[in-house]
This record gives sequence, structure tokens and C-alpha cells, in this order.
Amino acid sequence: MTTNRTFTMIKPDAVEAGNTGAIIKLIEEAGFRIVAMTKTQMTSERAGQFYEVHAERPFYNDLCAYMSSGAIVPMILEKDNAVADFRKLIGATNPANAEEGTIRKLYATSIEANAIHGSDSDENAQIEGSFFFSRTQQF
Ligand code: GDP
Repeated sequence: MTTNRTFTMIKPDAVEAGNTGAIIKLIEEAGFRIVAMTKTQMTSERAGQFYEVHAERPFYNDLCAYMSSGAIVPMILEKDNAVADFRKLIGATNPANAEEGTIRKLYATSIEANAIHGSDSDENAQIEGSFFFSRTQQF
């Protein structure tokens, strides 16, 4: 089933660098509507839950430390073909491989501190959105 929603979070490096507003502007200009948004900080344990799928990867501990190192801005977004279009907007995981004009090309500093998350499937978009937001927080 294809839904019209995806989940994103602006990561600690981009929030710390003061790029939250510029990134949200790119997201809205690309036609996404913000359904829910907050600013929060995860504990390392909570970051570990979010990235549980990567628990066996060598970079897992670093990733949990980095994702809990500062504030993040999670959002649920809406647009036709949201998951695929948003992955295109953010670009490749490693900014060195990201296309010109993508959010990661513009704002990521490394393969880890890559500015922004984007769900990779409709199923994960639903799970990840529910990780941060209840239905009453969605507009
Ligand atoms: P994404 O879907 O593009 O975010 O990429 P993945 O799901 O593969 O990885 C999740 C996150 O883990 C990435 O966004 C990076 O922040 C981090 N990450 C991925 N690969 C590496 C790596 O090789 N080294 C490190 N340090 N972090 C990585």
C-alpha cells in the first residue's frame, strides 16, 4: 500500500548549525505539508530503539551517541508519493554521493552527521511517526 505520508527528523548537526529553518524551507518548497513537528532530544537508549534495525552494524554505538548529542526536529510530512519523493529531496546517505541541490549535499558534514533522516518505506514511515507523535498531535 502506498500512503501519502513520510517521517523525517532534522539531526543534531543541522539543528546545532542553525540550519533548521533553511531545511524546513526546502521541504515546504518541494511541496510537502507539515502534519506534525516538534523539537526534542533523545536519550542514547531511545536513539538505540529508533535505530534498532542497525543494532548489528559497526557504527551503531556511534550513531546512538551522535543522535542523542543534541536537539532534533522530528516531523510527519504529507505529499503524493511522499516516501520516494522525500528520499530524492534528501539525497544519498553519504553526502559525498548526494546529488547537487539535495538537503544532504547542502547541509550534511559526514556519512554519520548527514543532517536529516527520511523513512525508507511506507511501513517505516508509519512506525517512525508513531515513535514521536500521537494522532492528536497531527494536523
Ligand atoms: P539512511 O536511510 O540514508 O539514513 O541510511 P541508513 O538507514 O543506512 O543509516 C542510518 C543512519 O546511520 C545514516 O543516516 C547515518 O546517520 C548513519 N550511518 C549510515 N552508514 C554509516 C556508516 O557507514 N558510518 C557511520 N558512522 N554512520 C553511518
